[in-house]
Amino acid sequence: MKIKKIGVIGAGQMGHGIALVSAQAGYTVILRDISDEYVENGLYRIEKFLAKSVEKGKMNEEDKKKITSRISGTTKLEDLKDADVIIEAIFENIKVKKDLFKELDDICKKETYFASNTSTIPITDLASVTNRPDRFIGMHFMNPVPLMALVEVIRGLRTSDETAEIIIRLSEQMGKTPVEVNDGPGFVSNRLLMPMINEAVFCLQNGIAKAENIDSVMKLGMNHPMGPLALADLIGLDVVLNIMTVLYEGFNDSKYRPAPLLKKMVQAGMLGIKTGKGFYAYSKK
Ligand code: NAD
Repeated sequence: MKIKKIGVIGAGQMGHGIALVSAQAGYTVILRDISDEYVENGLYRIEKFLAKSVEKGKMNEEDKKKITSRISGTTKLEDLKDADVIIEAIFENIKVKKDLFKELDDICKKETYFASNTSTIPITDLASVTNRPDRFIGMHFMNPVPLMALVEVIRGLRTSDETAEIIIRLSEQMGKTPVEVNDGPGFVSNRLLMPMINEAVFCLQNGIAKAENIDSVMKLGMNHPMGPLALADLIGLDVVLNIMTVLYEGFNDSKYRPAPLLKKMVQAGMLGIKTGKGFYAYSKK
């Protein structure tokens, strides 16, 4: 089947970026969220990104128009019924995602491929609520989507070779580099990244070094573009804690236990950039 139409569900941080790269790759895109306000906000962010690209001379006004003309917004799930691929990017909540996929399974044609952008939820589990586990796959984009090269392509236990091939080709068409991995808590990206951040929080908590110095060691010594604590502030400390909890419970292994300081900061509402205070302080623009 030739992929022509992509339905993106969730117009937030990840969803608007996925819609954008899909349209840039020439696909027709329908972007769905639960309210007009969220849909419009997603479309506005796409428009803003493209306007900046024109300003920087990366594309002309004509290209921008062509890209935006390929994207439409909706709040109705039925509008996605003839999509060839669905890419889901809604809240990281297993029940909400399962309810959505159950509904989509009834609405979409039986050939439609389902992809989830989940950071942690097992693909095999999400696929199990549909009648098409062979056509279900993880498509884990990185943030910010337009700028990051990687798409982690995660096979569930019943994902077919054909589905994996189609989604790998689709990722390449979007200008990304797909890397295939199997299903497991945190896949590869978060299984490696989150324990490193968590360990940095333990270093801070144990008084091994102050935040700036922990970050400097990783930037100057390991060539990381950002230190782990600054990165935690960017991702959101609540998200980091959520992923560590999934790893801890998923592996049933104490090496993944979330640092007590991380828990305390989340309880205190110190979530990083989005609340103005995390390991560092941020002034609101
Ligand atoms: P976000 O909060 O920015 O956006 C989520 C959007 O989904 C919201 O606009 C919300 O209104 C919408 N939504 C919720 N339920 C819906 C439904 N039933 N139908 C349609 N829309 C619905 O979240 P995000 O950061 O974009 O994360 C989305 C997904 O991507 C999550 O699974 C997350 O784990 C994953 N992810 C996030 C990042 C990141 O750095 N933010 C990176 C990789 C993967």
